[in-house]
Amino acid sequence: MEGRIYLDHAAAMPVHPGVARFARRFPESFAGNPSTIYREGLFAQEALAEAREKVAALIGAGDPASIIFTSGATESNNIAIRGAALRNKKTGKMVVTSTIEHISVLNPAKDLQKSGFTFTQVPVDRFGVIDLDALGAAVTPETVVTSVHYANNEIGTVQPIREVAEIVHDRGGFLHADATDAAGRIPINVGRDGIDLLTLSGNQLGGPDGVGALYIRPGVRVQPVLVGGGQERGLRPGTENVFGIACMGEAARLAGEEMPEESPRLVAIRDRLIAGITGIEEAFLTGHPAERLPHHASFRFSRIEGESIQLAMNALGIAVATGSACTSRTLEASHVLLAIGLAHDEAHGSMVATLGRRNSLDEVPRVVNAARETVKRLRAITPL
Ligand code: PMP
Repeated sequence: MEGRIYLDHAAAMPVHPGVARFARRFPESFAGNPSTIYREGLFAQEALAEAREKVAALIGAGDPASIIFTSGATESNNIAIRGAALRNKKTGKMVVTSTIEHISVLNPAKDLQKSGFTFTQVPVDRFGVIDLDALGAAVTPETVVTSVHYANNEIGTVQPIREVAEIVHDRGGFLHADATDAAGRIPINVGRDGIDLLTLSGNQLGGPDGVGALYIRPGVRVQPVLVGGGQERGLRPGTENVFGIACMGEAARLAGEEMPEESPRLVAIRDRLIAGITGIEEAFLTGHPAERLPHHASFRFSRIEGESIQLAMNALGIAVATGSACTSRTLEASHVLLAIGLAHDEAHGSMVATLGRRNSLDEVPRVVNAARETVKRLRAITPL
């Protein structure tokens, strides 16, 4: 879209041009079910195997068989939490998460209460960093799964995941980390980080929507959420989305290859944007000033409302988010912003800009000017 500046990569990423080129490797006549043994089926099997290797390589998983493909991060989170909790309930019936997890983590954890599990949410500080002392007190030998995201999608804060892993493993449970927004942007190594289950989204790596993956450390037992055929080791039955999975694999490969150059480039744009926008009167950064995702800049403005900011910025040719795309339509204050200690009215004035490979430093002045103009105009008419 000519003249538009797109700053909502957390909601949807354009497919990487390298993935689009890769997709042409699939012949127009492609049909092949990986469960069959003739040539077309073998082609599909190979495509899955190659994708598994590429995804495993991105997160330092030695064994590609530890990756299962799903329909996206929501499904991966459900299998990780529900599947690991129910499969291991003999060990104990407790699950723990932080207060600022994505709803696709919080809701399966809440739902487990119907099966007799206790669900504890551990608080975060004003920057969104998990309280490690509180985590230490909440996780017990009866806690089967603890789920703490690698980084937050609304405020960009990266968690001290290795310290989290130490606490969790000390008490004998499994650590699940939702790495939807972190993967391909900061280096992840499931071995070094001590992660037992890790969620990935195809789209957030630059691949298509509707495909994701779950890393399951060998030895961790999980039961399926859907039951059916034996695909994906029976953990995700149903004919595989071969084309989507292959494209996700290539996206993972490209993200890993480009990260050493692309992430610092995004950090430079991010920091210029943060400096510009926090220069506006009563504008504040949300999330951690340093420990944050390279592509993520999030703010709040006093005395205005996020939806109005989004619409006004849109009219000026700029797409930004207010809170998470998954919940922003409900018009409820974001649970993440409330958990970092903001009051309801403060939490409503949020704006999130997430960068991608098409963004550049020259766009920053236009974005900052648009934000300044928007804030001024909205404050002039606000009843707040
Ligand atoms: N987890 C996190 C941290 C997310 O940011 C999102 C969505 N952006 C999801 C899970 C859900 O992803 P999906 O809608 O692709 O299932």
